[in-house]
Amino acid sequence: MLPDAYDKLRVARHEIGHALVAIRFGIDFTKIDLFESGSKLGGLQVVLGQKKQTDGYVSMLLAGLICEMLCYNDHRINMVPDFEYLISDSYLGSSNDYDQACDLVWDMMDDSKADAYLLSIWHDVVIYLKSKIGLIIELADVLVQKNELSKSEIEAFLSANAK
Ligand SMILES: [Zn+2]
Repeated sequence: MLPDAYDKLRVARHEIGHALVAIRFGIDFTKIDLFESGSKLGGLQVVLGQKKQTDGYVSMLLAGLICEMLCYNDHRINMVPDFEYLISDSYLGSSNDYDQACDLVWDMMDDSKADAYLLSIWHDVVIYLKSKIGLIIELADVLVQKNELSKSEIEAFLSANAK
């Protein structure tokens, strides 16, 4: 069953968040796709074998959730995130992203540093995506119409709209 229009827009905004942060950190991917087979919530097809940049990967993984929160004016974006609460019904699609981000962080440092690290990444991604919110809204509308966007299409859109 296809997601309804509202869900589709929500997924598009989530995926655009992943894509913009991936591009920012030079993480390669082929396309974003609202109907990737096997994944109800779409997906960013990342080219594997590039895990060298932990900051970039953690940022990219959190960016979907953060982008949704920004687009839907979730006031919790400005507070220290309580992930148990965030990864609740309205952000169900982000729980896997968050688990992957935590796995990366926990591999790299002990728990006492992990929270502060995640928080600094969180705030950095919030600031970055906030600065692109107009583009995000426009690009998500294009993605809803076309169902998929390649990395080069997104990059072309970004350079055409660069000030
Ligand atoms: Zn995601």
